[in-house]
Amino acid sequence: MGRIVWLGHAAFYIEIDNHRILIDPWITNPLSPYRSLDTFTRHFPEIDLVIVTHDHGDHVGETVEILKKYGKARICAVYELAEELAKKAGAIERSIPANIGGPIRFEKLNIILTPAFHSSTIGAPTGVVIVGSKTTIYHAGDTGLFSEMQFIRELYSPTIALLPIGGHFTMGIREAVKAVEILKPRTVIPMHYNTFDVIRADPNEFAKLVKEKVPEANVVILEPGKEITIE
Ligand code: ZN
Repeated sequence: MGRIVWLGHAAFYIEIDNHRILIDPWITNPLSPYRSLDTFTRHFPEIDLVIVTHDHGDHVGETVEILKKYGKARICAVYELAEELAKKAGAIERSIPANIGGPIRFEKLNIILTPAFHSSTIGAPTGVVIVGSKTTIYHAGDTGLFSEMQFIRELYSPTIALLPIGGHFTMGIREAVKAVEILKPRTVIPMHYNTFDVIRADPNEFAKLVKEKVPEANVVILEPGKEITIE
């Protein structure tokens, strides 16, 4: 058994097949229940892997501090970004520099960085697919809708999709509903909304539209700090 905890914005803590993973760990984002990394660490004493989808501040978050604090945690991101963050943390030996589309073996997991239609300064922006023994999770990162999501569906059939719905910088509700139509996950968790005024969105509106268009997909609206259990 594992779990997915939404920490607000695009930040998630994921336990899958006994691995503890942080994605886009902006732990102290305005929605997060954790106001400092110290408080977070008390609740989550071990991290094995940090995945960062791109180099924008609201996604890198406290990655460098986390790598310093969790001495065994490794960092996986697009090549240039993984190296940069690992170097900043004085942890170059824990870097897993990768690139889009190449399956990465991490212990029992397969991890694939996906394309993302977005911008970045260091390396290309990405999403990520985490393939576990029973559950496959797709975190879309910051992205607009793109047709290659069809390949993500065909190759990996994600059971759980974590999708941005806030608009302006990423998909809004309409685009994210289309992504659900393409990806056909069993469970969808909306993210990247209501952190700031410019990305205001109503997750209930998203859930209603998904129910109409893709009734087999179940939208789970999490409160920051709350979780779902996974296999
Ligand atoms: Zn971004």
